[in-house]
Amino acid sequence: MKKLLYYLNPMVHLGERKYSVLFPLIVNLLASILSELYCYGIAKDPMAVGAYIIFVNVALIVYFSFREGIRGGFISSLITIAYYFYIIDTRHYSGKQYIAGVETTVILALLYFLLAFIIGWLKQHIDRLIEIQFDERQRLETIIQQLPVGAIITDKAGKITHINKRTHKIIGLKIPVGFKIGTDKLKKIKINGKAIIPSQASFLKAITSGKTIIGREFLVEKKDHKKVYLHINSAPVYNKKGKIIAAATIISDITQQKELDQQKDHFLSMASHELKTPITSLKMFIDLQRKQFEKEDTKKAKYYNEKISDQANRLKELTSDLLDVSGIKNGKLHFTLEEFDLSEIIQNTVEDLQGITQQHEIIVSNNKKFIVKGDKYRIYQVLVNLLSNAIKYSPDGKKIIINAKKTKQTVTVSVQDFGIGIGKDQQLKIFDRLYQVNDIKGKNFSGLGLGLYISKEIIVRHKGKLWVESEKGQGSTFFFTLPLFSRKHS
Ligand code: ADP
Repeated sequence: MKKLLYYLNPMVHLGERKYSVLFPLIVNLLASILSELYCYGIAKDPMAVGAYIIFVNVALIVYFSFREGIRGGFISSLITIAYYFYIIDTRHYSGKQYIAGVETTVILALLYFLLAFIIGWLKQHIDRLIEIQFDERQRLETIIQQLPVGAIITDKAGKITHINKRTHKIIGLKIPVGFKIGTDKLKKIKINGKAIIPSQASFLKAITSGKTIIGREFLVEKKDHKKVYLHINSAPVYNKKGKIIAAATIISDITQQKELDQQKDHFLSMASHELKTPITSLKMFIDLQRKQFEKEDTKKAKYYNEKISDQANRLKELTSDLLDVSGIKNGKLHFTLEEFDLSEIIQNTVEDLQGITQQHEIIVSNNKKFIVKGDKYRIYQVLVNLLSNAIKYSPDGKKIIINAKKTKQTVTVSVQDFGIGIGKDQQLKIFDRLYQVNDIKGKNFSGLGLGLYISKEIIVRHKGKLWVESEKGQGSTFFFTLPLFSRKHS
């Protein structure tokens, strides 16, 4: 029944532009047959047709012109006029009656066709307008869907009329068109029957409020508990008369930028902290040394002098790390290539670094003569970094093992410690610029997160590889390879 009513209702077919021929044909023929049956079967008076026929036919012509356009109206009129001639013929009119019947039918035919034309033309015109409007809406929808940012349009009541897929992706929430946040308590807000996270609700409340929001940032939690920073610009849309008719919102995911900002802030605070420590110590020891000189206690003055030199070295290392990083970024990290014996550099580094730890024994397990071509100082820098990390990150360790062995055309150097180790998920990240593992509980390790980044760049520039094998709590082994020098390749 519902389906039949839907089919018969001419209003629901507005804008369709599909016009049936069969439907008006059948209905009009049926109406004529029923009328004949009524006259001869029920009223038993062939002339009873005159009492209703014009009303019925006008109604059908209006209906079909409005439902099926000009063609539907014309078909309806044609059958009606044919039926009128049939009536004149079957009711045996004669003389003046016959002529009057024919004349009336001709006038009615003209009126019916005119009526069918006007209504049918109006209907077809409305259909076209609706179609144009629909096309415009489709175009707007396509543009909104393909925008490279999240976009939401709400009506003046705050109900969402358009929302693109990117928005769903950014906030991890599928908000249906038609969704409106009322005045309910936040926790009661549901989307598709599921309660939403409060941070999402407050964000939605802001965009559906229709107020101007420029550059507001929201921290929104996704369903998978990942947090995203959203940057929102939202503004009311006015019509020509200056009335608010909608609100448009643009959403961008700025999580990456935020993380970079945080990294920069973290770096600045770490760098200032790291630079402050040696400067403070330097100043303190210089003051003490001056006092000792005044007291003429040269032994103590000598001790302070060593401390001053240590701290000055630390300052030098920090500043040269910072310079190296900017060198890498600008492509200006310089190398002086020469042939050298790697075992000598290893030996020197071990001796130098053994000097800074009493707790650890640095064992060279295998160190034959290996000739490589590269920058001696840079390779020394890598070894110093790996060994000082091994010392720093094994506060309870006793041994550090360094090994160099030949593998095909390369030499592989390993530095093994028995310290805190590195989780699997961090093992690639530690080679990134400024990256530091921050889940080391209760321990504060100094550093800027630059050493491994610089080391990796140096090794890669030597056509080698640098990687780590480690288990959390068990210790780490850092490996690097360097191509062995052979005259053929030089
Ligand atoms: P820094 O030591 O100055 O923080 P690095 O680039 O040398 O910077 O190291 C990056 C991070 O890798 C360190 O912060 C530390 O968390 C981790 N790491 C490096 N070497 C080791 C090691 N031998 N054992 C455990 N963690 C290490």
